[in-house]
Amino acid sequence: MKTKLLTRIRRVQVASLVLAFLLLLSACGSGDSSTTTDGSGDTTVTSTAETMSSSGVDVGLFFDGALAEDATTEACILSDGTETTCYRITVAGDPVTYETGPFCPETIADSADAGGIWFDGNGVYDIDGDFIVGLADLYDDDNWMMYDEDGNVLVTETLEEFEAAARPDVDPALQNHCVEGRLEWLEGGEPISTTVLIPVEPVLADSASTTNGNLGVTLDGVVIAASAPVDAILAAYTIAAFDDCGGHYNPFDGYHLHGAVGCSELDEISEGDTAMFAYAMDGFPVFSPLHDADAFDLDECNGHETEEHGYHYHANGAEENQVIECLIGKTVAGAEGPGGGPPAGGGG
Ligand SMILES: [Zn+2]
Ligand SMILES: [Zn+2]
Repeated sequence: MKTKLLTRIRRVQVASLVLAFLLLLSACGSGDSSTTTDGSGDTTVTSTAETMSSSGVDVGLFFDGALAEDATTEACILSDGTETTCYRITVAGDPVTYETGPFCPETIADSADAGGIWFDGNGVYDIDGDFIVGLADLYDDDNWMMYDEDGNVLVTETLEEFEAAARPDVDPALQNHCVEGRLEWLEGGEPISTTVLIPVEPVLADSASTTNGNLGVTLDGVVIAASAPVDAILAAYTIAAFDDCGGHYNPFDGYHLHGAVGCSELDEISEGDTAMFAYAMDGFPVFSPLHDADAFDLDECNGHETEEHGYHYHANGAEENQVIECLIGKTVAGAEGPGGGPPAGGGG
């Protein structure tokens, strides 16, 4: 209750700030379009979110504690040279709405409660004992053997093992391991924060695009990473286990999300829709996957415009290993923050 009230208060404050900012803008005669100059000296005029209604990024929607520092605004240049205003947002790096884990089960007798999930672009699986035993069948390769003769699952158990497994050239000794990291193994035992620049008002791009970098940030303080490098992970006979919220640790980025399964959501849900849980790098909101996406008229990026929420994306199901299908708006070049998913193997 307390949290919610504080959030509301913060939202009101932000709203006033935004209003003041808009008044300032119109005083300068900028209105809702901006004039920009690209490198060639040509002048282009762009309108903000021309056909898509969007109220822009509302930093008041982030949960208390999700941001490592207050969001600030600054001038920024989008990938095509468009000049606009961006929020500098630093997510704290560990979700404030849930405890991370569990990731890997301890024994092959364990139920789904003892482990998280795995997804590989084809399906999403509970990582229980049966899943560990069934790996050779699932991937049609008898080299899979992720448990010992006593039925104990082979799991990364030290920082050294974690680091040796969560890299492109997985240490052969750690093949056939269920790879899991822990907060306490990150530097200083602290979450790794990530700073991103996101346009305050989304600016439509000429065409949809995908990015190799981070795709967005959740409202509870976690980076949405690009697809996990599943092929490399499986080639090393490892499983880079996700928890039941679709995230996991690696030594470079800390905890990050690869699959959307309904965590980190706002309370408000309007009828027929799912709840918002993130902002994409182009400034449009991201909502949880639709249960029956075919029943909606979604665009190529799984987005649609509704009266209540304006334009927003719906995340892919976790099985797709790609939280956001693509972006219709422009992003700040190189704004995805450090890492953006290094070519990691087991850690992904
Ligand atoms: Zn929707
Ligand atoms: Zn990862």
